[in-house]
Amino acid sequence: MDRQQEFVLRTLEERDIRFVRLWFTDVLGTLKSVSVAPAELESAFEEGIGFDGSAIEGFARVYESDMVAMPDPTTFQVFPFEGGMSGESARMFCDITLPDGSPSWADPRHVLRRALSRAAEKGFTFYTHPEIEFFLLESLGERGSLPTPVDTGGYFDHTTHAVARDFRRQAVLALERIGISVEFSHHEVAPGQQEIDLRYADALTTADNIMTFRHVIKEVALSHGVHATFMPKPFTDQPGSGMHTHLSLFEGERNAFHDASDPMKLSKVGQAFIAGLLVHAREYTAITNQWVNSYKRLFPQTLANRITESPAYVCWGHTNRSALVRVPAYGKPNSARVEVRSLDSATNPYLAYAVMLGAGLRGIEQGYELPPGAEDDVWALTDGERRAAGYESLPENLAQAVDVMAGSELVAEVLGEHVFDFFLKNKRTEWEEYRRVVTPFERERYLGIM
Ligand code: MG
Ligand code: MG
Repeated sequence: MDRQQEFVLRTLEERDIRFVRLWFTDVLGTLKSVSVAPAELESAFEEGIGFDGSAIEGFARVYESDMVAMPDPTTFQVFPFEGGMSGESARMFCDITLPDGSPSWADPRHVLRRALSRAAEKGFTFYTHPEIEFFLLESLGERGSLPTPVDTGGYFDHTTHAVARDFRRQAVLALERIGISVEFSHHEVAPGQQEIDLRYADALTTADNIMTFRHVIKEVALSHGVHATFMPKPFTDQPGSGMHTHLSLFEGERNAFHDASDPMKLSKVGQAFIAGLLVHAREYTAITNQWVNSYKRLFPQTLANRITESPAYVCWGHTNRSALVRVPAYGKPNSARVEVRSLDSATNPYLAYAVMLGAGLRGIEQGYELPPGAEDDVWALTDGERRAAGYESLPENLAQAVDVMAGSELVAEVLGEHVFDFFLKNKRTEWEEYRRVVTPFERERYLGIM
């Protein structure tokens, strides 16, 4: 037993914790949990906890269904706010293995670990920090009615919207208590919409933090008698919920994206990384935007009908909020980073970070050239002007995104064959289910036609 494992067992005993939740994530990004009594944990550290993988989305085929969850003691965290009468609880994330101890190819955490170790072979550590948007709703709008946001507030509103403000204060305190540092929190543009930005961390920690964040935010919302949703686009006429993520590579203590001698202060490594993100953007969009609903958010904005700042075209810029990739101005050299703006709040963060890292590394390995930045408003250009500038459109719907991904050697390599095949099959089914439904739009438009 190593020191981390001993620390976990000692803490459980000292704090009289009766439940330890072991967490992992399925291929679609749903959190899974199994509770164990502390007495079981010693053997769980040695042998893991067996479960039926065929019952988990994307994990195993029925004939090879035995899987094992191995708790990762470095992720041990006591959850003080879930205590109440029954005492504190705790959780650990798990790595999933097969019964012979080899890592499961279906485990999103393993997909990201593999991508990170490829970066490490080149001397890079990958850091990320997400800006997570979500809606607080009074009701989810059951039986065909629209959901109701908790307030009518807007961007950075403070005083009049008490539910959201109290909610954010409690949510941030709850997150800080479990070791998740929050950088900013504010009301977003739409009624009921909130944003909380996490401090940067290595990508595996960030992905674990995002899974924890979703859980905590939902719990805190329920304790206020409201619902939190990370659905990408709940309302037709309001902005959707993005999860813009800032990315950087470090070589030891040094930010590899910074170069004081470059006019843009962007190193060759940084430039090639962005070029990789752009060249492969269409291929990994099915991962960063994985739901039918995701593409209602990525909808191109016109000048007349602009409600959001989510991207729809593949280009990069500095202050340009219509671009897919933005390079924010920064002060200290170690703050050099790029912001990818397509991800939405319902992505699987492990897979999303793995494919973006893979795309950036490919740019570095192959020495991709960074195209000129887009400093104009890309939405205001005509289709012809965009074509001339070389700005391709992101996929317009899930079906297109899946088709482009299916032809991507890069995404297949990063995800591994098992996750790649499962994901494509699952998303094709989702699209088919959506496609066959006759929508209210069609009834309104066509019922009286003949
Ligand atoms: Mg925002
Ligand atoms: Mg942003």
